[in-house]
Amino acid sequence: MKIRFKLTSQTRFMLRTGEQYVEGIRERRHAKIYVMGKRVTDVTTNLFLKPSVLAFKATFDAAFQEDTRDLARAYSPYINEEVNRFVHIHQGPQDLVAKVKLLRRLSHKTGTCFQRCVGWDALNTLYIITGKMAERGDWVYRERFLKYLEHVQRRDLALAGAMTDVKGVRTLRPNEQPNPDAYVRVVEERDDGIIVSGAKANITGIAAVDEVVVLPTRAMTEQDAAYAVSFSIPLDTPGVVVVVGRQINDARKMEGGDIDGVPYMAHHEGLIIFNNVFVPWDRVFLYKDWRWTGPLVEIFASFHRQGYGGCKSGLGDVIIGAAYELAKTIGVDNKPNVADKLAEMVFLNESMYSAGLAASWEGSKLLKEGGWWVNPMYANVTKHLVARFPYEISKLAHDIAGGIVGTAPSEFDLKNEEIRSLLEKYLQGVPEIPAEERLRLVRLLENVSVSVGFLIESVHGAGSPAAQKIMFNRLYDYEKAGEIAKALSRIKVTVKWPKAPEPRRPSESEKL
Ligand code: SF4
Repeated sequence: MKIRFKLTSQTRFMLRTGEQYVEGIRERRHAKIYVMGKRVTDVTTNLFLKPSVLAFKATFDAAFQEDTRDLARAYSPYINEEVNRFVHIHQGPQDLVAKVKLLRRLSHKTGTCFQRCVGWDALNTLYIITGKMAERGDWVYRERFLKYLEHVQRRDLALAGAMTDVKGVRTLRPNEQPNPDAYVRVVEERDDGIIVSGAKANITGIAAVDEVVVLPTRAMTEQDAAYAVSFSIPLDTPGVVVVVGRQINDARKMEGGDIDGVPYMAHHEGLIIFNNVFVPWDRVFLYKDWRWTGPLVEIFASFHRQGYGGCKSGLGDVIIGAAYELAKTIGVDNKPNVADKLAEMVFLNESMYSAGLAASWEGSKLLKEGGWWVNPMYANVTKHLVARFPYEISKLAHDIAGGIVGTAPSEFDLKNEEIRSLLEKYLQGVPEIPAEERLRLVRLLENVSVSVGFLIESVHGAGSPAAQKIMFNRLYDYEKAGEIAKALSRIKVTVKWPKAPEPRRPSESEKL
């Protein structure tokens, strides 16, 4: 492997525990974060954000827990140490597979999106893009990026990936917008760095990270050069403002109960505003070279679409499990119609997972020295299944569980001594299972199956369904499929059969 800079850092190697991550976020006092109109100084104790911190924390704890330790650790050749997989650069298909498996398991432990994968995918994307630049003789960005990677891996940082610009008028390109900051852009170039302005929306986990890695959201043209910028900054950099978004049932986190709010981990999304923010040159990984933006977006999107095969199937397991247990509470778990619905849910769930694994096993190298990427066709198939199947799975689970999912009383009713015995009597199904267990399962099913993490994020996260269809049309070789049809129908008798059986064209990134 060709790495052209010397590892001179004196920083002690750290694979952080969950507690150490939480402590780091607690000390990050200066970040300007707002929740429901109020400034939050400590996200670790804020009732709205604490469940998000706990979900993030699970990615650190995974490196120390018996069942996930092997999946959650990987050897980094860049610092010659073991690192948390969430800051690892994939070294082969086995790493891509481990990603999908780790994500499935972490969904079991959190019941939500654990938010750390976007920054991870951003790292792997920049590794490939800056590597491509280096292969063409431009080592500046490569060397900067590898130093940044060392910084991230040695400190085991929690990163957010910020890609989606607010976009203003959707039919206009960045340089045509009436609001010039509708896409994040460079507003000033200085000797020591650049000043950036703009905002990124729907940023997963943004309030709970150490740093944010910013990527362009779309392919740019020459006229958009000022918008072709990628960089990283600590979240408490002056000029950065984070406004956390609301989600369904979010106020339950602040009620202080222990049933209605389950799962106790939840993710958040937010708007990050760059109000004339200074970025030093050593944190700039793409600067006005608009030609790299198309491949960058394609590489990042495919990485994240692959990951959905793991995390969403993991949430599917939670929902299938809750539906099965709820069927038991009312004595219908052995009924053929319930077994049929459960089998359908399993089929939908394992289809998402299988596609994620296929995208991983069929991954390939984009750089001479590595730069492992997923198979873009199967990554897009994965995400397209994810845009559909969670809704089907949720519908089937609600069908099995019954209307109680939408009508169950609050845990505070169950805790009220005046009505507790009445509710225990009338909420109970089979006598062996107490009413409180049924209520707990109902709340879990409700909170996970109608969550942003399982539904809305499944449609829009990593690109909406239309984006995958664009990729299908780019990647599928209709001419080759046509030749196959013409050969079999004897319209054409000589066909040049390629080695690969799949009729597929190379993606933009594979052609570089
Ligand atoms: Fe990770 Fe899934 Fe959340 Fe994306 S949606 S950050 S892949 S858990």
